[in-house]
Amino acid sequence: MSARDAALVRLGEERAAALLPQPPDRPLDRASLLRVFAGLRDTGFLGSTLPPERGGMSHSAFGSLVEGVGGGLPFLSNHSVQRYLHASGSDGVCARWLPPLLAGRAIGLVAITEPHGGSQVADVRAEVRRTAEGLRLYGAKTWLVHATVAHVAVVLARGPDGAPVRVVVDLDGPGVRRAPMPTNGLRYLPFGSLEFDGCPVPDDAVLAGDGVAATKIGFAVARSLVGVQAVALAQRALTHTVYRLAGRTARGRPVTSSDVVRHRVGAMAGRVEAARLLCYEALAGVDDARPGCDALAAAAKVLGTDVARDVTTECVELCAGAGAAADSVPARCRDDAALLATADGTSLVNQTIWGGHVVRELLRERPDLRQGPEA
Ligand SMILES: Cc1cc2nc3c(=O)[nH]c(=O)nc-3n(C[C@H](O)[C@H](O)[C@H](O)COP(=O)(O)OP(=O)(O)OC[C@H]3O[C@@H](n4cnc5c(N)ncnc54)[C@H](O)[C@@H]3O)c2cc1C
Repeated sequence: MSARDAALVRLGEERAAALLPQPPDRPLDRASLLRVFAGLRDTGFLGSTLPPERGGMSHSAFGSLVEGVGGGLPFLSNHSVQRYLHASGSDGVCARWLPPLLAGRAIGLVAITEPHGGSQVADVRAEVRRTAEGLRLYGAKTWLVHATVAHVAVVLARGPDGAPVRVVVDLDGPGVRRAPMPTNGLRYLPFGSLEFDGCPVPDDAVLAGDGVAATKIGFAVARSLVGVQAVALAQRALTHTVYRLAGRTARGRPVTSSDVVRHRVGAMAGRVEAARLLCYEALAGVDDARPGCDALAAAAKVLGTDVARDVTTECVELCAGAGAAADSVPARCRDDAALLATADGTSLVNQTIWGGHVVRELLRERPDLRQGPEA
């Protein structure tokens, strides 16, 4: 990791520690969440990977910032909408929403998942109808981070001609119903569902491009970022555990001097580092627009969240009674990591994407090695 990226990790960690909500178990309200985003404004978090003049940075650099923030404030989000608007929004929609989003005065969310299932992104049932009064949005979305407090959403829906589109919706406008959704991890985040019942969609609020294809392109960034945040949780639990065990004694010596404990710590630390490297390789692939970077991002997400779940669970066990306490750092990281494993696609779905890519590439590179009667 370069000195610049290491500095971004540190900056993210420091800000997350300073902005940590208290108590950390209750979903933040709009004002509290806006305070968090305002506190991150000068770090570049809200500009994410937009061009530098918009306050953004490379995907790899942004990954470092998100890794730093993610140990304390995992899955904080509120940067994808900016990327979608900048890439595909009309002048009008960008002028209305980008300034407040980039200044930390508005909160955005991306609404893809529907109650009948989120894995099949193409099976979208929300729809935009053309009425005498203009475009209107109908349908339901669920599992949305910031649903109860966000100002604006990019919503995947079927357009009036049946083709998938993404539309920008003012969530404080008419026809929007919000419902909170309590979760087992990431409890500081206001998750929820949205129902749209004739919600107005201005003509210039339809983003350019095929809605499903554009959503899938966005996954390459989102999945790599989930991976680095999972790694951050694993690292936090591991660091906490080593310090904890250094202060406990067994047979008159610190528990950390035991070879058995060092072996376990070494195995965990190695896996965390491997997952971290894969996530940054995926982000570098996005930066360079390398073919297959979307599949590598899927693999990085699976490895990051698998490692995070394993390491945090082992840390709970190693910390023994202190680990099992309801508010222990390893237990909290474990519960958060469990949710990250499903965000932006389950491990099964992401591993299948990666596996499909590997099979296709192997067969493409050496079709002559294909064996058997069907070759
Ligand atoms: C922390 C968190 C944050 C989220 N944030 C957002 C957000 O901001 N916006 C948003 O739109 N959504 C969000 N989601 C939703 C998330 O993207 C979906 O939960 C995810 O895509 C899975 O969809 P589902 O829960 O409906 O499961 P389903 O699609 O119903 O899947 C159920 C099971 O079937 C399995 N499965 C799926 N396809 C196959 C297959 N082909 N073969 C075999 N098994 C299969 C899945 O792996 C899973 O085990 C979030 C979820 C979480 C947990």
